[in-house]
Amino acid sequence: MKKIKLSFFDAKPYDIEFFNRANRKFGYDIKYFNNRLNPDTVSLVKGFDAVCLFVNDIVTKNVVGPLVKNGIRIIALRSAGYNNVDLKAVFGKIHVARVPAYSPYAVAEHTVGLMLSLNRKIHKAYYRTRDSNFNINGLLGFDMNGKTAGIIGTGKIGRVLAKILKGFCMKVIAYDPFPDADYAARTGFSYVPLEKIYTDSDIISLHCPLTQETFHLIDGKALSKMKKGVMLINTGRGRLINTRALIAALKSGRIGYAGLDVYEEESEYFFEDFSSKIVSDDVLARLLTFNNVLITSHQAFFTVEALANIADTTLGNIAEFFCGGQMENEICYQCGRKECAREKTGKCF
Ligand code: NAD
Repeated sequence: MKKIKLSFFDAKPYDIEFFNRANRKFGYDIKYFNNRLNPDTVSLVKGFDAVCLFVNDIVTKNVVGPLVKNGIRIIALRSAGYNNVDLKAVFGKIHVARVPAYSPYAVAEHTVGLMLSLNRKIHKAYYRTRDSNFNINGLLGFDMNGKTAGIIGTGKIGRVLAKILKGFCMKVIAYDPFPDADYAARTGFSYVPLEKIYTDSDIISLHCPLTQETFHLIDGKALSKMKKGVMLINTGRGRLINTRALIAALKSGRIGYAGLDVYEEESEYFFEDFSSKIVSDDVLARLLTFNNVLITSHQAFFTVEALANIADTTLGNIAEFFCGGQMENEICYQCGRKECAREKTGKCF
């Protein structure tokens, strides 16, 4: 039987390691490209059956045409988020599958890591003691015990986070348009209106997807309602926050701490080494000057368990497609509506 040919974009050394390991079970012919998929690089897909993409590979209308023309039948996203794919433009032409869950623990635990580091200034203490500076001035933190954490989005990650923060004996409140009252009762948190998350929380953490409704959810107006000195954590998507408004709130002291694993314009910088280059993004550069801002480079998902699950599920999605069976992880812009055929046929179209 002809081997399925998979073109793999934006390949990093850790991707190659984990996908090669998972591929022992599938036996695809994988070609790894350093390039990200975009209109300039789409010609590389010639001769392949499938593409495997990550968050900074962009599938816009003008990429869809060449993908179809070159015979690509499935876009296998190795991420949960899919806001980089124009689902409307690909619908009816190329199937799209994602990895809906690989380790909610990885992201939730990194979120708590950001909270603890910002609060107790562990990242600063590390540099001080390395330099034999054992002074603790300026490292004062607060007890998380008894404080209020507000979680926006209680899907897979938000739920794990709620559980962990209950372990710190925090009061946990949450907002989600689709609340799960049973889970909340079992875990010991309560759902409140979004406004109350803003007004009552000492720490706010974002775990909703980026959609038209959540684009710049945290804008100047939302920030102005928050407690003075609140800690804001974003391990969701960069565009959930209007960064210019965040900078103004950091300058005024409204935001006391910001922990960001994602950034609005991250695609040019995150995952790349700019240590000997110039960062020309003035907004990112300004963010990096605040001593109460901690930025990590979209690494919340980055654990051994998550990478193994991502590789296994991504290659499994491709196998499901080419075997003609049910595609459990397919997505389309019609999903959930009657136009999407998945419920009846196992595929979106
Ligand atoms: P999920 O789909 O399980 O949960 C998302 C939740 O958000 C759902 O309960 C949904 O009802 C809720 N929601 C939708 N619209 C909302 C709104 N307007 N306000 C509040 N809640 C809303 O997703 P998940 O696996 O928990 O992941 C959450 C997000 O985390 C993803 O969309 C992705 O963008 C991000 N993520 C980041 C990383 C990382 O490495 N930083 C890794 C994985 C996922």
